[in-house]
Amino acid sequence: MCICINCTFVDQCNTYYAVETQHQQPHLTDSPHFEPKNPTINVNIRTKTDYIEMEWDVVGCDSFVEEAGKWMRLKPGEPIPT
Ligand code: SF4
Repeated sequence: MCICINCTFVDQCNTYYAVETQHQQPHLTDSPHFEPKNPTINVNIRTKTDYIEMEWDVVGCDSFVEEAGKWMRLKPGEPIPT
């Protein structure tokens, strides 16, 4: 799971914006302005019968500041991105 959903910068961060783009999710902001330090992105590639699925997760980041449930508070009632 992406650590960003519990990070205080999730609604400002340009790396999380790129992850949203890869997952074809709606963006939390249209103008991300926060540049995180050393984010590490884990890309899982799964081959299905007739397509390839790619999942991007930030698994480490020097700028991470824990704010538990930050994403959930911004998107109440919506399924948490995995
Ligand atoms: S953990 Fe890093 S990449 Fe993810 S939202 Fe926070 S600052 Fe951005």
